[in-house]
Amino acid sequence: MNTINDTIIIGSGPAGYTAAIYAARADMKPILITGMEPGGQLTTTNDVENFPGYPNGITGPEMMIDLENQAKRFGTEVIIDYVTEVQFNIETNVHLVRTSSKEFKTKTIIISTGASAKYLGLDCEQKYRGGGVSACATCDGFFYKGKDVVVVGGGDTAAEEATYLAKICRKVYLLVRKNEMRASKIMRDRVLKTENLEVLFHNELHDIQGNNVVEKVLTINNQTKEIRELIVDGVFIAIGHKPNTELFEGKLELDEAGYIILNGKTTATTINGVFACGDVADKVYRQAVTAAGTGCMAALDAERYIAGH
Ligand code: NDP
Repeated sequence: MNTINDTIIIGSGPAGYTAAIYAARADMKPILITGMEPGGQLTTTNDVENFPGYPNGITGPEMMIDLENQAKRFGTEVIIDYVTEVQFNIETNVHLVRTSSKEFKTKTIIISTGASAKYLGLDCEQKYRGGGVSACATCDGFFYKGKDVVVVGGGDTAAEEATYLAKICRKVYLLVRKNEMRASKIMRDRVLKTENLEVLFHNELHDIQGNNVVEKVLTINNQTKEIRELIVDGVFIAIGHKPNTELFEGKLELDEAGYIILNGKTTATTINGVFACGDVADKVYRQAVTAAGTGCMAALDAERYIAGH
């Protein structure tokens, strides 16, 4: 406990592991604490085909094992545990990270706890996850080329996912539970102008049916209670994401949706020596490759911070 580490990385998605690779190669002897879902969101994805350098694609879990091995190769200590508390000390600039079993003192912290896609909470949705239910059109849309799909949601994420899918799929149904979309006007207009995209207002997902994979969706009109059957191959849930920032509430500046606010184009947070990267600070791009890019930035920012102190 008396050792003061150079850096503790919290979270084990592409951002965290990339930060670890850079920090380890800079001799910062990083300790990476994986969190409850080692590997992060990518471990729930099947094939990753858009990460540069994998011409034949790679599965999400395989990619995370590769990233972990790469980080370990340069000396990262990977601890399978979760953080229960962080204490920032703005006087000494030595911060404390507490896990379920240990405490660490550290000069810098790199937060890469990611975000989690929100789901509706229906049993059918869980049953077909990985069998046609997804929360990421950019990741999985390609598998529905020429097919029909349903998107659920009425915000910017749903508008973006639905218009993206409309370019790939034959037909996209967008289920919006109110009589209007919450998305920005420009996105709404884009949705309404897209020919193969049909918006079903006042409609909600009622059930998903199929033989291990999605074959049919039942929607319910929440006013008339009318049930409609849609023959589709995929269901995209696009009702928003939740950044994993509960640990930092009241301790770091967060935006109204809970994302960590960064200082300009750096990964610096409002506390000296504390940096954030990946989806926990990004509600716009949310890609494995952008998370990895900001992970690199966080390690470089942390290294420079230590050099300057
Ligand atoms: P939002 O919270 O803005 O929208 C969520 C949508 O999902 C709403 O339409 C909501 O319906 C609907 N919804 C929530 N729960 C359910 C449910 N149980 N059943 C059916 N529908 C449900 O989330 P977004 O992810 O769309 O956007 C988050 C933020 O990120 C926004 O600030 C947005 O502007 C931004 N963003 C920006 C992008 C860009 O600039 N390119 C892209 C994506 C997001 P209701 O309206 O009825 O509550």
